Amino acid sequence: MNLYGPETPRIKSNIGEKIYEQMSELYPICSSITGNGVRETLTILKKHIPLTIHEVPSGTKVFDWTVPMEWNIRDAYIKNSSGEKIIDFKKSNLHVLNYSVPVKKTVSLEKLKEHLFTLPDYPDWIPYKTSYYKENWGFCLTHNQFLALKDEEYEVFIDSSLEKGNLTYGEYLIKGEKSDEVLISCHICHPSLCNDNLSGVVLSVFLAKHLNCIPVRYSYRFLFIPGTIGSITWLCLNEERVSKIKHGLVVAGIGDQGKSTYKRSRIGNAEIDKVVEHVLKCSNDPYEIVDFTPYGYDERQYCSPGFNLPVGCLQRTPHGQYPEYHTSADNFDFVQPEYISDSFSKYLSVFRILENNKSFYNTTPKCEPQLGKRGLYTAIGGESNTIVDQMALLWVLNLSDGQHTLMDISERSGMEFDLIKNAADALLQKDLLQECIE
Ligand code: ZN
Repeated sequence: MNLYGPETPRIKSNIGEKIYEQMSELYPICSSITGNGVRETLTILKKHIPLTIHEVPSGTKVFDWTVPMEWNIRDAYIKNSSGEKIIDFKKSNLHVLNYSVPVKKTVSLEKLKEHLFTLPDYPDWIPYKTSYYKENWGFCLTHNQFLALKDEEYEVFIDSSLEKGNLTYGEYLIKGEKSDEVLISCHICHPSLCNDNLSGVVLSVFLAKHLNCIPVRYSYRFLFIPGTIGSITWLCLNEERVSKIKHGLVVAGIGDQGKSTYKRSRIGNAEIDKVVEHVLKCSNDPYEIVDFTPYGYDERQYCSPGFNLPVGCLQRTPHGQYPEYHTSADNFDFVQPEYISDSFSKYLSVFRILENNKSFYNTTPKCEPQLGKRGLYTAIGGESNTIVDQMALLWVLNLSDGQHTLMDISERSGMEFDLIKNAADALLQKDLLQECIE
């Protein structure tokens, strides 16, 4: 099914490449949940969309949490007894346990091992580890590097700081005709990891750029936030706005070759759940729908019982279900432009249906209106390519009782959403329909 009209192939052909290229500009930045890495990331994103950068002071109470101290890092290494750097943060941001406190000392191999993290099953990969809420220091290295360590003294050095500062996040609102909002949320806290979640960050930017150029009915709020503490902070500081959110998606892991996977909102049958399922079903690609669980990305916070927002997560292979997850192998080989393009298309299809998914009343519900005298029979014979499908007209007239949206009619009739929408437009023009206003 083509939900975009004739321009889709052009969008699809190069958007994945552009997103992929943009990811490479962000990849070298050592991001975390706070600190200059986040600011640097947001400053780059700001070249593309005029987002607002917010700073929330450390120590701010946000529901049951507290905004943590700000973490910054300049350098880190392990030197062996000959003075050679055997682990060097400058070669990979992942080499340092994210949020490590500063350290400068000489330690035995035995002591050092207490602070080392490896992946024995994938001996060439560096794991990504964090210690945000418990003060610690450590290094992540390949298991092969670990096995090569000799029983000698090592100099460990981490030039980091953990001080009062701020939590930084980015926000961008595209104002539509309505103040009702669609929330698009992605996490920006991971350093040098492609699928989780540079792919989601840059996809969100390109979605925003796209939506900014077309007229929209809904307002679209984009959040670029550190995982967990970012969504908790935003929800706490914006509680009065939350009721405006009518639909939402958490964008994550959209660049791997796995099939599209949609995790439903906690509500389970919200409009966003139905729309995403419809898009995936009509794509003719393999896909999977999974029910809400209170684990995963920031949908956990949006779907906490005190908010229970209609926010799902549209990803490809779910987090944790691929071995490259949270390792140095989540790189530019693991994500590919063609899969990013495909995810971009699916997100746009979701927005396109949300934008047009209205319901109507048939203004002449007693028997069928006479379509011929209104010029709505030109479709028969199919001589024009701008025809309004006859069956679509009949389905829309029959199900426009205020109870069915256009997508419901598309599902019930088995006809493409665009055919149904075109039929509704034609009937509206002839005053045979009236929009239901909630
Ligand atoms: Zn992650």
